[in-house]
Amino acid sequence: MVLSRRVTVLDALVRDIEAEVAAQTDAGGVVLTTSFSKEDQVLTWAVAESGAEVDVVSLDTGFLFPATVETWKQSEAHFGLKVRSLKPDEEAVTGLGELERIYEGVDARKQCCSVRKIQPLRKALSGKGAWLTGLRRAQSPNRASMEKREHDANWDIVKVHPLLEWDDATLDAVVSATGVPVNPLYKMGYPSIGCAPCTRPVLPHENARAGRWWWEQSSKECGLHRG
Ligand code: SF4
Repeated sequence: MVLSRRVTVLDALVRDIEAEVAAQTDAGGVVLTTSFSKEDQVLTWAVAESGAEVDVVSLDTGFLFPATVETWKQSEAHFGLKVRSLKPDEEAVTGLGELERIYEGVDARKQCCSVRKIQPLRKALSGKGAWLTGLRRAQSPNRASMEKREHDANWDIVKVHPLLEWDDATLDAVVSATGVPVNPLYKMGYPSIGCAPCTRPVLPHENARAGRWWWEQSSKECGLHRG
């Protein structure tokens, strides 16, 4: 990407964040959920650059890869901000039983995602006006019909996807230009990184989400976003 276009893309992104935060000042504020993906790192960069007040949160499911935990630490130091950790309810986790149940059926797997991801996130989004995400159309066919700014009836919140139209080349150029910390698992064939027991590397011909819950024929979503 040439320098002038790169500057335009980055300026537009920071302005998008500032405008969203200004629009939500009296409506509960803005949350950014990060899994420390390249997309989320770019959004966190834009939040830090703008100085706008955004609640940056991450789901600490108890099953993050060590490399992701390390990227989390590096990111807080790099961006100079705290990423609020959302942990599951301990009693509910005990009620899930053995982790291996997730491989026995989609219902058991979704129950684990519900306890470790959905319920903690629901608390974090409660009362907030807008939710920033790093979703892109190019990631999966399930994301092809999304709008950049849309009301999510399931969560009753406005979801904003500033990077929705970005292709892989744009993302990589911006990651390089901004120098954000990158999870080393990308270089090991993981284009989409979730919990360790549920994520494998993908083959060259597979889409980015193919390594998530690879044993299922599901929509490859955990309930945070529509499949
Ligand atoms: S991704 Fe896997 S380990 Fe993580 S919450 Fe969902 S089922 Fe549980």
